[in-house]
Amino acid sequence: MEAAAYRFLSGGGEMGNLIRSKDWSASLVGTPDTWPQSLRTTLSIILNSKFPMFLFWGPDLVCFYNDAYRPSLGNEGKHPNILGSRGEDYWQEIWLVIKPLIDQVLAGGEATWSEDQLIPIYRNGKMEDVYWTFSYSPVNDESGKPAGVFVTCNETTDKVNTRNKLEESVNQLEFAIDAAKLGTWDYNPATNTFKANDRLKEWFGLNTENEIELDHAINIIAEKDRQRIIDSIQKALDHSSGGFYEAEYCIIKPGSQQGMIVQAKGRAWFNEEKIAYRFNGTLEDVTEQVTARKKLEENEEKLNIVIDASELGTWELDLKTKEIIYSDRHMEILGHTKGEVVKYEELVKQLHPDDLISRDKAFEKAFETGTLHYETRVIYEDGSIHWVEGRGKVFYDEDHNPVKMIGTSRDITEVQQREENMARMAAIVQSSSDAIISKDLNGIITSWNAAAEQIFGYTEKEMIGQPLLRLIPADRMDEETSILLQIRSGERVNHFETKRITKNNEILDISLTISPIRGLHGNIIGASKIARDITAQKEAERQIAANEQKFRVLADSMPQFVWTGDAAGNLNYFNQAVYQYSGLSKEQIKKEGWLQIVHPDDREANVEAWTHSVQTGTDFIFEHRFGRHDGEYRWQLSRAIPQRDAAGNIQMWVGTSTDIQDIKEQDQQKDFFISMASHELKTPITSIKGYIQLLQTAYAKSEDTLLKKSLGVIDKQIVTLTSLITDLLDVSKIKSGSLVLNKQDFEITEMISEIVNQIKHVNPDHHITFSGKSALVFADRERIGQVLINLLTNAVKYSPNSKEIIIKNFIENDHVVVSVHDSGIGISKADQEKIFERFYRVEGKDERTYPGFGIGLFISSEIIQRHDGKISVSSEPGKGSVFYFSIPLKK
Ligand code: ADP
Repeated sequence: MEAAAYRFLSGGGEMGNLIRSKDWSASLVGTPDTWPQSLRTTLSIILNSKFPMFLFWGPDLVCFYNDAYRPSLGNEGKHPNILGSRGEDYWQEIWLVIKPLIDQVLAGGEATWSEDQLIPIYRNGKMEDVYWTFSYSPVNDESGKPAGVFVTCNETTDKVNTRNKLEESVNQLEFAIDAAKLGTWDYNPATNTFKANDRLKEWFGLNTENEIELDHAINIIAEKDRQRIIDSIQKALDHSSGGFYEAEYCIIKPGSQQGMIVQAKGRAWFNEEKIAYRFNGTLEDVTEQVTARKKLEENEEKLNIVIDASELGTWELDLKTKEIIYSDRHMEILGHTKGEVVKYEELVKQLHPDDLISRDKAFEKAFETGTLHYETRVIYEDGSIHWVEGRGKVFYDEDHNPVKMIGTSRDITEVQQREENMARMAAIVQSSSDAIISKDLNGIITSWNAAAEQIFGYTEKEMIGQPLLRLIPADRMDEETSILLQIRSGERVNHFETKRITKNNEILDISLTISPIRGLHGNIIGASKIARDITAQKEAERQIAANEQKFRVLADSMPQFVWTGDAAGNLNYFNQAVYQYSGLSKEQIKKEGWLQIVHPDDREANVEAWTHSVQTGTDFIFEHRFGRHDGEYRWQLSRAIPQRDAAGNIQMWVGTSTDIQDIKEQDQQKDFFISMASHELKTPITSIKGYIQLLQTAYAKSEDTLLKKSLGVIDKQIVTLTSLITDLLDVSKIKSGSLVLNKQDFEITEMISEIVNQIKHVNPDHHITFSGKSALVFADRERIGQVLINLLTNAVKYSPNSKEIIIKNFIENDHVVVSVHDSGIGISKADQEKIFERFYRVEGKDERTYPGFGIGLFISSEIIQRHDGKISVSSEPGKGSVFYFSIPLKK
């Protein structure tokens, strides 16, 4: 193609090139050199314009466009084939829309103008919604007739889309505002006026269409909030605050009583001079939330008060992590101090082992039912045990797995104890043998125990709700009134003895104790009565009184002193004789004590002996002197024996004191006589013995057998007489305390052997054996020998039909014990205790035939006692006796 032919096509960018290089020979408009000037001119303008342009030319409306238009065709679309082609072929999708416009312009009409018109076209491989602002104008040919339509267009898809989106978001915002029931406001600080949406206006009771003055709105704010809000607005408008505004306040619409709580949120906008030019935001009706919140707070507060008042501990247990959150009170209940941190596992360890199973069961049940309730004992660090009640609720996740438990704890130790006490009290009341009855202040019976039924014969059913007067005999009706009076004043009636009537009209002796029953606030609400049937006791008392009367009469009529003492040994009764003898009054003895009657020298031993008897419960036997009213003292032998109950416990002591002054004096005379007699007898006896021995020697060879036999008998009797006199002398020595011991070291077996030989010699018929252990003693050899002789002669004397006598000795506890065993007549138990007394001889037909004074054992006993030893006997009548004596070994 010639360059000159296409000069009009020079430049024109990509489209210029395309037109130039295109083979137009087969085209509808022919090659460019055939194109009319009007087309050339128009194309030249189009190609050189930076504004998107398009041209439909000729009857076929052949298409031309420039580079600026090219992007509107997109990729993979009409470009580049549309160039030089029929419009109708390439704009099929919009042909119906644009053909009329083209026709209109070609028909000589006005140029058209369309703004943001949606004309979807095929491009980028698909139909797209494309918006256009375009104008169609005619291009005339040389003949002055429209030959083409010149299109200037601008794709406004982006602009339209943006605008649509904006519109949409405004809509959405409005919708949101509407849905959220928000009020909106927009304040202009420069004019001090603001705009608001209808809702806000409604809230504020503003119906003006115009802008509103801020002050006008401020007045609607409740007085209590007003200043605070003015201050917050001021603050937001100050640049340094950052411009943020948030406030909650109450508005009171004019003409309405009810306030409305709103929450305002907003922001101030500042210009470069840091001056606020706009302040806008929203307002939300939060009345319900605030009321709900307040209610919640109130409820929480109430709950806290309840928890506090009920002294409940609270806890929250995470069932997965076993973490536990608890209140201070909960810790206190478990025995810990405030703020102490204790792990769940440790808390579990504190539980009483016996309660673990029931607690585990309670938890298992809680997972099933959702509620927890159990009671357990908790052991504090100091070992004390406390009862705790746990209650809780289980919380589950969406899959119904338990995740959390929230609960309370309560110290029920007191409750538990109270319950236990109540149960115990109830048991006591029921098992009491006393009637326990309670009544109200009108005297109506409110409780009646088993013993009451037993005593009065009425059942509980018969008596509850009945007046107590039913039990009171007609002549004692006034009693109840005065008892009620006393109870009403809070006083107790103690052991009041009276009479009551049973269902069988029997009159009973009753001892009453009545105490007021107080209600929770200490006010008296009734009385409890304990009634004991003392009919039998009264009868017994009457009998005791009668017996005592008899006893007194008896005791007072006796010349002896009779006295009694309590279990502790305090003397509490003396018969008349005591007062008469001593000249003391009851009061004097009561005040100064009975010991004042006793001779001062005897008092110490007396008290000692009495104390010993009281402590050991053994009979009291004591000789002491009592002072008579005239100042003389007389010897008394006092004896007292304890009175025991069925269980063997001493109840009292009963004692008597007998005057032995005369006996004592006779005794002394007797002792004096014995002493004198034995002394006086000794001399003539010694002389007789001397002459007998003389005569025996002189007539030793005589044929006179009678004489010799007589001398022998006399000699033997003199020996016996001498020994009797010696014994009597010993007795008086003992009595006068002048028996002297000459102690020496000696081998006791030697001494025993010597004596055994002597006795054997005198009693050749008896079979006497001795076996023993050698033992050294420090003692009076003569006197110990005398004891042994005594025992051996007795053994011989009191065993007429048996000739066997066994003597033994052995060592026991640093003592040597000597025993003399015979198989003779034996001694009864009663006599065994007495044979060591002076002049005591066993009485009986057998013993009469045995000579003796009954002083041998007395002397022996004295000698052994003076050696700090012991003498005793064990015997059975008819079988024989064993006498023992022991003396200490030489140290
Ligand atoms: P007596 O001089 O009467 O024997 P004793 O003091 O020696 O006096 O003894 C007191 C009493 O004890 C005796 O009268 C006798 O009844 C009893 N008696 C002593 N020894 C024996 C004995 N071996 N067997 C039986 N009775 C005895």
